[in-house]
Amino acid sequence: MKEISYLLLDWYSKAKRELPWRVNKKPYSVWISEIMLQQTRIEAVIPYYERFMQYIPDIQSLANIPEDKLLKLWEGLGYYNRARNLKKAAIMIMNDYHGIFPNTYAEIISLPGIGEYTASAIASFCFNEATPTVDGNVLRVLSRVNEDHRNVDLARTKKEIRQELAQIMPLEAGDFNEALMELGEVICLPKGEPKCYICPLKEICKAHLHDTYSLFPVKEEKVQKKEIFYTVFLFSYQGKYAIRKRVNQQILHNLWEFPNISGKLAIDEVKRYLKSQKIGYLSIREGIDGKHVFTHQIWYMNSYFVEVSHEITDFVWVTVGEMMKKYAIPTAFRPFLKELNRDFRHTIL
Ligand code: SF4
Repeated sequence: MKEISYLLLDWYSKAKRELPWRVNKKPYSVWISEIMLQQTRIEAVIPYYERFMQYIPDIQSLANIPEDKLLKLWEGLGYYNRARNLKKAAIMIMNDYHGIFPNTYAEIISLPGIGEYTASAIASFCFNEATPTVDGNVLRVLSRVNEDHRNVDLARTKKEIRQELAQIMPLEAGDFNEALMELGEVICLPKGEPKCYICPLKEICKAHLHDTYSLFPVKEEKVQKKEIFYTVFLFSYQGKYAIRKRVNQQILHNLWEFPNISGKLAIDEVKRYLKSQKIGYLSIREGIDGKHVFTHQIWYMNSYFVEVSHEITDFVWVTVGEMMKKYAIPTAFRPFLKELNRDFRHTIL
């Protein structure tokens, strides 16, 4: 394991990518980027990160921003609790640390929304504390290098690997962590062929030497995701469309959605449903289908354009432009918003 650190640091000093949050290694920048990167690829995160930093450049502005505005800026990244926790943590830093980001792993991990991995990343990248960052990339690289048969989906395996890494952390702890993660992101790829021919570890990697890389990392069988069907209503009235806030929901809580009901309804069933709800309409036609994959669920959505004969008071009625500017519409419902925009030739998208 020790040999890995020399090889990695040498490689990283020559090959590391220029990324916006690597420019100054400020804990605020690293924190925001690491939270965004939890579910999203680097290339996709960069524009979100740059926009976020433009509007919320520091801890104080994050602590003070209204939640609606924060969620709007987070729109498209998904997993919105991450954004809410950022704000909670910023308030805590303002109150408990006089607005200065804490500089030890132990303090950083006590902030809302920050787990072992993110705390290690901030503590090592910004303060060079010798705390290993163990994410999927790191586990993949190490399990291949060592032909490690431990199941990487188990918390126990992660803990053991973390302990083993802690034993070999060099003085350049931050660079070492970044190098290991970067190798997993750009060379030791998860699907398809890893690029062993340019890998700095190829001389010592057992999976490469034995041509067994496809067997690693060892993982648990994936649990089947629950499939849920919804019928989405694109209600229109005099150039405005109905949306509503998702309150008391486990998923996408406090975000905005188009009205919808459970089940995939055929057009006759939709007509019966509208009648039962006393919703009069002038026209009705089928819209596009949508699909969204969450961690444990897949939503399948079909939709109907319904031009109603009166404004229904249960909903908020807005133009497409207003929806785009002011309301956080989660990715799951974005295809319908795009469709509205295209269909009615608004100009905001
Ligand atoms: S040699 Fe190949 S399998 Fe081994 S760490 Fe490098 S890219 Fe991954």
